[in-house]
Formats: sequence, structure tokens, C-alpha cells
Amino acid sequence: MEQEKLAKYAELALKVGINLQENQPLVINAPISAAPFVREVAKVAYQIGAKYVHTEWNDEQLTKITYETASIETLKGVREWRVKGLEEMAEEGAAFMSIVASNPDLLKEVDPERVSIANKALAQALQTYRSYIQTAKVSWAVVSVPSQEWAAKLYPTLSPEEQVASLWENIFAVTRINEADPVAAWEVHIQTLQQKLEVLNGKNYKKLLYKAPGTELIIDLPKDHIWLGGGMNNDQGTYFVPNLPTEEVFTLPVKTGVNGIVSSTKPLNLNGNLVDEFTLTFKDGKIVEFTAKEGYEVLKKLLETDEGALHLGEVALVPHSSPVSKQEVIFYNTLFDENASCHLALGSAYPICIKDGASLSKEQLEAKGVNTSMIHVDFMIGSAELTIQGETEDGKLEPILTNGEWAI
Ligand code: ZN
Ligand code: ZN
Repeated sequence: MEQEKLAKYAELALKVGINLQENQPLVINAPISAAPFVREVAKVAYQIGAKYVHTEWNDEQLTKITYETASIETLKGVREWRVKGLEEMAEEGAAFMSIVASNPDLLKEVDPERVSIANKALAQALQTYRSYIQTAKVSWAVVSVPSQEWAAKLYPTLSPEEQVASLWENIFAVTRINEADPVAAWEVHIQTLQQKLEVLNGKNYKKLLYKAPGTELIIDLPKDHIWLGGGMNNDQGTYFVPNLPTEEVFTLPVKTGVNGIVSSTKPLNLNGNLVDEFTLTFKDGKIVEFTAKEGYEVLKKLLETDEGALHLGEVALVPHSSPVSKQEVIFYNTLFDENASCHLALGSAYPICIKDGASLSKEQLEAKGVNTSMIHVDFMIGSAELTIQGETEDGKLEPILTNGEWAI
């Protein structure tokens, strides 16, 4: 992997991803294996004029050891000072960059119950901090770098060096780093997404009708729903793009307004466990039946997290010909695979997808039909055979996606 591309990737993450401003603090969350990239990001951040760069390091082997050997009491415990620190930096207007080197198999041997206990405790403790992120009060971005294990999953027959190099090439391709001017290329891409948003928000469809092999689903959209995509403005009015890559436009369903059956089209990676070839059957928004060829127990655990885990929180549209899809690999990583495909999410909805949603309480959101949950998990349902129609206020059906491609 060439140093020059790595520098361009760091620049993209800062200038397009979180759109770092002069004198703004930057908080990086990263695994120690990503140190070379973190250094590159810090260098560019200080060139832009970052107030400071604070890095929260993690080590996946240490995480695994903790999950495996710590007592249940310890797994449930969260250090207050850490939570307060994150909240304080958010209040200071910091931007938050998560650098992720996914390792799909890391926790395969660990009891999912123990992982779930630890994740639940952490999610609970970080609720206030997460609300800063979910309501876009602060800028944030998730940026991926290869891990050896992740790269091996994509390229089992190559040498370890070639595996990582090949995955870097995939990442550079889907994030448009190979373009002469990646930042400019992203400006064009964002404009395309804006056009789709304008059409969808103008139409204000009341229902979406999905048809594909194994899928026959009707999703009601709330009256005040808003389609979002590409990026958004934080409280200071700074436009940022939280996911690199991003190809989707998304909104939220009515919590109690989903009916029919939907089949997954790509495997779902849950804390290192794969769930594959699964179906979900909905009645009045609730999952009443589910099947899975692989990972049934893991899916069951996920759905048992809380009441909201049995409902949908996101509806996302992605054309089948997206650059991620064109790579023709399964990334075994939702951040990438979700951009290859139309998807839905189990669990919490983004309050910003409904008018004035950011200022509503949990109870007010529920009353408007917005799902809340401690989880938000995307799963892929798109294919070249997926057709989606929108139903207008007066009951007319209009094509939105035909054979997996935009019809608007
Ligand atoms: Zn999504
Ligand atoms: Zn999502």
C-alpha cells in the first residue's frame, strides 16, 4: 500500500468525513494496529489547525481476554470518568473519528451472553454521549482500515501481505481515493445523493412496497419522515459525512407499520459471528417469526436485546451498481456491505429522520412511531432483482428502484 494513498485517505477522512474546522478538538478511537494511519490523520489534523488530537486506543486481544476471563460484575462495570471524558469533549464541540480494523472472527469462541452483557452495560453508560452522535450535535465519522484477519477472510488464498494490500485496494477503490482529486470526486457524489433526497422528500411517500425473490414487504413511512444521505449538518452548521464510503439514502419506518417477509441477501457479521441466509416475518411492525441457515442463536440473542430490537429503525436505498457492489467481494463488514445494497436496520431509528426529531424525548419519539432500542444493526436485502415502489398520498404507485437501479 502506497504512503501517498494513505495520506489521501487521511485527508479525505478529515476534510470530507468529519470536516474538521480550525481550532476544533479531534477525538480518535482506534485499535493499536492502526497506528500508522492514526499518525497520518493526526498530522493532517494539526495542519488543518486542530485544537488537540486525543486518541482512545484499544487492543482487540485485550478486549477478548476481558470478555473471556473477567467476572460478570466486571463486565457490567463501566468507569464513570471515561464516560464523563467523552461527554465533556462532545460538549466542547470535538469531532469524533472511529477508526475500525474489523476482525470478524475475534469473538467467535467467546460466550455471546458475556459479550452481550458487556455491550449492554457500555451502551447504557454511553447513552448521553451516543445522543450527541445520533442527533448530529457533533461531527463524527467511521473510517475503516484492514486488519490481517479481516483481509484473510476476503482473500484466503493469498499471502498475508497480499491479503492486506488487496483489501487496501478495495478500500481505496470504494472511497474514490484512486480519483485524481478524491475530495472533488466526493463533492460530485454528494450532489448525486442530494438529487435523490430532493425527489424522495418532495414525494413524501406514505408506503414503500418491496418485491424480490423471498421478499414481499410493505413499509409505512411516518408522515413527517425525512430522507437523509451523504452527510448532514452538526449543531454548528458544519456539513460532515459520517460514513466513508457512503452510497445510501435512508429514512425511518413507522415502528408498527411493517408487514410481510424479507430475505437477507448478504451475511450479517455480529461481533464476530456470522448470520446468513435469514428471513424475518413482520406483523404490525414486530418480528413474529425468523429463520437463519447460519447463526440462528446469535440472531435470536440480538432480537432479545430489548423490545425495540424486534422492530425496524431504518430503511435505506442503494443502487445495485454502487462502487462497493462493483468490487464484487463480500467485505464481511456492514460498513462496506451496506453500501453495496439496499438495507434495513433492526433497533433504534435516527431521530433526525423525522421533523424536529432531535429535540424530542424518548417518549415523544415512541408516540410518533419512532423505534428506540439499545441496538442498531443493518442487514442487507438488496439485489439486481429488487424492485421498490412508493405509494403516494392518493394511493398511486410509482417506481423508485427497478431491478436494483434508481428509477428516480
Ligand atoms: Zn444505513
Ligand atoms: Zn444503519
